Amino acid sequence: MNILNRLLCAGLCLVCALPAHAALRVVATTQDLAALAQAVGGDDIRVQYLVPGTRDPHFVSARPSMIRKVYRADLLLAVGAGLEVGWLPALLESARNGAVQPGAPGYLDLSTTVGLLDVPRGPVTRAMGDVHAQGNPHYWLDPRRGLRMARAIAERLTQLDPAQAAGFAQRLAAFEAQMAEALPRWRTALTVLRDQPVISYHTSFRYLADAFGFRIAAQVEPKPGIAPSPAYLARLVQRIRREHIGLLIMEPYYERRSAQYLQAQTGIRVLILPQSVGALPGIETYFDLFERIVAELEKAEREIGQQAASR
Ligand SMILES: [Zn+2]
Repeated sequence: MNILNRLLCAGLCLVCALPAHAALRVVATTQDLAALAQAVGGDDIRVQYLVPGTRDPHFVSARPSMIRKVYRADLLLAVGAGLEVGWLPALLESARNGAVQPGAPGYLDLSTTVGLLDVPRGPVTRAMGDVHAQGNPHYWLDPRRGLRMARAIAERLTQLDPAQAAGFAQRLAAFEAQMAEALPRWRTALTVLRDQPVISYHTSFRYLADAFGFRIAAQVEPKPGIAPSPAYLARLVQRIRREHIGLLIMEPYYERRSAQYLQAQTGIRVLILPQSVGALPGIETYFDLFERIVAELEKAEREIGQQAASR
C-alpha cells in the first residue's frame, strides 16, 4: 500500500469512527419543563418527561421506565424547591448516571433561576405535613418566570452542545417574542380579576395570582399536601360568605368533594384550571397553558359578574 492509499484509508476510517452529531437527550421531571426545553431546543434535542401534567408531581412512584430515561439522559431538568423530593433522589440513585447528578453540568434545578415566593422564615420540614418546606415550587405558573426558565435552559443547552448555539439562541428569541406579544394581552383579559379574592385548592396558583394581580384569600387545603377536615371546611364556608369570595380554582387531579361541598353551601363558582402542560387535552406547549388558563378565568369572572348584576 503506498503512502497515498494509507492516508486515504486513515481518513476514511476517521470519518467512519465519527458518529453523526448526536442530539442531546434531555429528561425533564415535569411536562412543563419538557415543553420549555422543546421550545428552545427544537430538533436539536430529544426531550422526554417523567411525570405527565395529569398527575400530582408531589407524589410519584418511581417506575423502571423512569429509571431508564434518567440513565440515558445528558441533561436532567428539575423544578426543585422540594417538589420532587419525595421521589427524584431515589430515582437518581437507581439510574447511576453521573452526568445528571446534582452539581454536574447535566443537572439543572430551575428553582435556582426564578426567585421563589413563600419561603418559610422558620424551620419547616415535610414531616410537619407541609410539602412546601423550601418555599412554593409552583413557579412555572408565572409566565415572567417562564421566560427566566427558558433563558436558563437555553444557556445550559448551549454549554452542553455549543455547536447548536445559534439554533438555541434563535428559538429562545422567538419564544421571548411570542411571550412579549401575549403578556399584555393576557393582563388586559384578566383585569376583571384584579385585586379579587379567590380560593385555590392547593397553593399551585400563587404565582399566577402574583403575575396577574389577583389575591389568593385561602386554600381548601389547611396546609399544602394536607386534605381538609370537616371543621376546617366549615370555617371556610364562613369566610367565603363574610368576604364574598366568588371563585374557587383547582387542579384537575384533586378530589372534588370538598369543593362541591363549599359550592353547595355558599354558591361559590368552582373552576377546574389546568396547572400544567398536558393537564387537559389540547395543552401541548407552555404558551397553550396560559392561553387556556386566561380564557377559562376570563369566562368564569364574566359569568360571576353577570350573575351578581342580575341579582
Ligand atoms: Zn405544591
